[in-house]
Amino acid sequence: MNLANLTTAKIIKGILENDVALVSKAITLIESTNTAHRIMANEIIQACISKNYETLRIGITGVPGVGKSTFIEQFGNHLTEKGKKVAVLTVDPSSSRTKGSILGDKTRMTELAKNPNAYIRPSASGTSLGGVARKTRESIMVLEAAGYNTIIIETIGVGQSETAVHSMVDFFLLLKIAGAGDELQGIKRGIMEMADLIVINKADGNNIKNAELSKIEFTRALHMFPPKENGWSAEVLTCSALENKGLKEIWQVISTYCSLMKENGFFVKNRQNQNEQWLLQYLEQELLTAFHNHEITKDLLPKLKEEVINGSISPFAAAEKLLKLLKIP
Ligand code: GDP
Repeated sequence: MNLANLTTAKIIKGILENDVALVSKAITLIESTNTAHRIMANEIIQACISKNYETLRIGITGVPGVGKSTFIEQFGNHLTEKGKKVAVLTVDPSSSRTKGSILGDKTRMTELAKNPNAYIRPSASGTSLGGVARKTRESIMVLEAAGYNTIIIETIGVGQSETAVHSMVDFFLLLKIAGAGDELQGIKRGIMEMADLIVINKADGNNIKNAELSKIEFTRALHMFPPKENGWSAEVLTCSALENKGLKEIWQVISTYCSLMKENGFFVKNRQNQNEQWLLQYLEQELLTAFHNHEITKDLLPKLKEEVINGSISPFAAAEKLLKLLKIP
């Protein structure tokens, strides 16, 4: 299918009719840096805006090898059996830093990919995490408009990508494996604080006992964090993605979370806050880009930097000089 022959109206109609090829085209437009594509993408996204809070966005993070793709494959199939329509997106910061990608290089989730009620999109590439995050957020809107009611967003446990994913989901799941008693050492405090549920995967074979011990340790560690403002206390469960065990219990926790958060109003409030943050972040990003691309900045900033370094002007005076020329404020 040639993008040039498609009108936005046709793509929008296709999205609303769950035409998978057109959903993919829309996401390709969202991911494109071409100006004409961007214009089309904006029109499409505008048509996909919805106040439908019946969808669920789940973030899943964990270091490479923890079993994310195995887990998402099984969990995704489990959810489609329950009548859900599942879409999986990935936020992979490694793809923007290096040419390769930790998540995308291998063939992943082949079974789920064949499932007619599931849609899997490999990670968007981009020059920055901010750019990738924006594309992911826009893709979520398209997928929800296309009728996918459960969106899984996967990321690896490195860099700032968890924070970015946390800011676009309703529920955040941290996948771990039991180690030799050192589970808590390698983990960043911030990620644990963000988690609504910690799942110790690979609780099978000889590893069951270790996984149970790990569960106790994580439960104890979670008690040391202050309660979340939404009243939810993060839980810890074990599972075996490989043997398809423990998934039902995980879905149970997620469902309970959703019911409680809808009851106390947090669910909607959180989405509204996320949208507001999205607006502000995007504005900041664009302003910064416009600032650095401005002719006056390009011309004057290097000279001012030198003057600041050699002490002939103070950093603040230099900044003011430049801002004044740019008529800011
Ligand atoms: P990812 O890098 O986090 O996506 O991890 P993968 O899903 O690719 O899994 C890494 C390895 O762990 C693979 O060899 C999987 O077969 C294995 N694995 C995943 N889940 C389980 C599990 O529940 N039990 C066991 N024993 N192995 C698992």
